[in-house]
Amino acid sequence: MKFDYDVGIIGAGPAGLAAAIYAARGGLSAVCFEKEVHGGQIINSPEVENYPALGKVSGVEFASALYDQATGFGAEVEYEEILSTDLKGEVKVLRSADREWKVRAAILAGGVQRRKLGCPGEDRLLGRGVSYCATCDGAFFTGKTAAVVGGGNTAVEDALYLATLCEKVYLIHRRQGFRATEAELAKLRGNPKVEFVLDATVAEVRGEDKVESLLIRSTTGGPDRELAVSAVFVAVGLIPGNGQFADQLPLTQDGYLIADENCRTALPRVYAAGDARQKTLRQLVTATADGALAASSAVADLMGDAVL
Ligand code: NAP
Repeated sequence: MKFDYDVGIIGAGPAGLAAAIYAARGGLSAVCFEKEVHGGQIINSPEVENYPALGKVSGVEFASALYDQATGFGAEVEYEEILSTDLKGEVKVLRSADREWKVRAAILAGGVQRRKLGCPGEDRLLGRGVSYCATCDGAFFTGKTAAVVGGGNTAVEDALYLATLCEKVYLIHRRQGFRATEAELAKLRGNPKVEFVLDATVAEVRGEDKVESLLIRSTTGGPDRELAVSAVFVAVGLIPGNGQFADQLPLTQDGYLIADENCRTALPRVYAAGDARQKTLRQLVTATADGALAASSAVADLMGDAVL
């Protein structure tokens, strides 16, 4: 059997690129498949300050250093979306719209997508004030009023970033407690440009051709109110895009891939790494650690496999 690569990695985010580094250094030929741009979600973080030993670095800098390191060791990156796979057999087949690749081992590191609010106006005004990426679109609203929805680290980071550009930023969250770490929240509290709108959800995004206001609904039974804003940045969490693997691999109820501590899934020579996998801490450091583990498992499994 002729294989295109030893290891095919779905995703060129931190997990996928770290896997590529470890696979290539382990003597395997490796390719990452990326449907968007390499780097994954981290490219939307203006500043990363919790990756051990790096101090402060931008998400884009981090992603390009990782890319350079992976390709420097000989790994390849194909900008193709993998739409279907056969993972059960000896030969793992990965298919895009018009090509297929045969690999000995597959690492699933496709990450997650942003969750939507699901309220009226959100889709209609997408790109006209509704955004899922503050660092991409925030500058369009310099000097204006914007809202961020969510209570996790992404929402807090987005609000902090927007406060550097906008005249005013509302942080809308559906309860009083936050998922964001206290270290991030502390930076936001006391910022004179930021107003917390708590126990509240967005019931509708309003505006003719662009966002003009939000209909805010109380989660504690209070009256609705309308908030005038020029933009709303949605940061209400992530959903895994693992549906295409559901008929081949067990997923959690929430759709995350199940793997052991060395990132092995239930299928031989199929590994899960990064945010797409079931885990308690979804951070850059755990994504790259997963990539290292998945690729090291692949190196061990392929070296010891008499069939291949
Ligand atoms: P997250 O931590 O899952 O937070 C999502 C937030 O959105 C929660 O506060 C949730 O409220 C709220 N929410 C969910 N559905 C909602 C809805 N339909 N309407 C209104 N609010 C809704 O997501 P995230 O902030 O994107 O972070 C994802 C992961 O990346 C986390 O593990 C996070 O720590 C990590 N991250 C790390 C960094 C960093 O280390 N620098 C930066 C960004 C993200 P409830 O709390 O009430 O459920």
